[in-house]
Amino acid sequence: MPFDSVKPEDIFECRKCGDCCKGFGGTYVTPKDIQNIAKFIGTPPDTFVRDYCQMSCGKPVIAQKKDQYCVFWDDVKLCTIHPVKPRMCKAWPFIESVAVDPANWEIMSGACPGIRTDFPLPVVQRIIQKILIDNRNRQ
Ligand code: SF4
Ligand code: SF4
Repeated sequence: MPFDSVKPEDIFECRKCGDCCKGFGGTYVTPKDIQNIAKFIGTPPDTFVRDYCQMSCGKPVIAQKKDQYCVFWDDVKLCTIHPVKPRMCKAWPFIESVAVDPANWEIMSGACPGIRTDFPLPVVQRIIQKILIDNRNRQ
């Protein structure tokens, strides 16, 4: 495959394993996330923050269950708020830190089996930079 035709779906395909939904990684929710998720689950925004979030460095992050999975993770249904999941969850793994230093792609692949590491890192970096620019232009 010529590298200039590589697409995002060539370098990443989610395996739906849920590994990224477990552990206190700090899934921050933006004010927009809070509004969207609260509306989706049918609760007022402040109730959502009180009942479904924990505070980390003064900011709300989605809470975890006793098994350390996100409160919205379900083994069968997977992410139960998928249409409105937080910006952080939607963005993964096409994130700024890889655009800045593509070596992070290799590091992230250790925790995410959907990340392919058989493409040259400059190719990965180019794809991610383009995604981020496109996202910014859409905002
Ligand atoms: S760890 Fe990677 S492959 Fe597994 S659910 Fe998360 S994004 Fe998908
Ligand atoms: S909101 Fe959904 S995608 Fe994000 S950590 Fe929770 S279960 Fe995973």
